Amino acid sequence: MSQKVIEAAIKDKKMICPKCNQPVTKYEKYIDMCGSVWDGAGDSGMQTQGSMVTLICGNAGCSWEERTEFWDSYIEE
Ligand SMILES: [Zn+2]
Repeated sequence: MSQKVIEAAIKDKKMICPKCNQPVTKYEKYIDMCGSVWDGAGDSGMQTQGSMVTLICGNAGCSWEERTEFWDSYIEE
């Protein structure tokens, strides 16, 4: 589940703030976005899955925060 991934990434300091390059310290307002999108062509309903979260840097001197569904792009491997 995505929320577990986000939690783990923050805990392991792998969620990196793009502004100060320090680990993001917290997140807020996690929501799952699961829904079917009807594409209108036959019966090929497309299942979308994603999640939206607000990432908050929280490091001293940095006010970066971002509401994003592309949170995985901030995780460093
Ligand atoms: Zn930062």
